[in-house]
Amino acid sequence: MDCLFCEIASGAIPSYKVYEDERALAFLDINPLAKGHTLVIPKMHGGTILDLPEDEVTHLFRAVQKTTARVKEIIKPDGFTLGVNHEIGQAVPHLHVHIIPRWHGDSGINIHDIVRAGSDTSVEEVAQLFG
Ligand code: 5GP
Ligand code: ZN
Repeated sequence: MDCLFCEIASGAIPSYKVYEDERALAFLDINPLAKGHTLVIPKMHGGTILDLPEDEVTHLFRAVQKTTARVKEIIKPDGFTLGVNHEIGQAVPHLHVHIIPRWHGDSGINIHDIVRAGSDTSVEEVAQLFG
């Protein structure tokens, strides 16, 4: 096994658990961006949401909901930024959802400020691509 998060999922590498069930694990990020920064992973290996069976993705997002509720209860932030680095910016190639507690005035940005590429194609033209 040479996947870091598979090793965390199996317990071969220790982690501070926040939530666990038979198919998902949530644990504290070792290098937190905010107090209580938590990662939620499927125990099954898959790089992205496109690499896993549908029911694993369904289960993972239910685990994200439960974990967010738990972090909210314990850490009591003002809100959250939830996110996935999906190939771009993804350091660990095992799907993980970041749950990042947020506070008013924490100087963080929101999702609208992550990407500023814009689009040289109108929304109407892009809509046509989808039929
Ligand atoms: P990515 O950039 O892939 O979206 O995020 C990977 C995250 O995993 C980073 O926030 C990093 O701090 C965290 N991380 C990397 N190695 C470990 C580890 O061994 N244990 C834990 N708990 N988190 C880790
Ligand atoms: Zn893995």
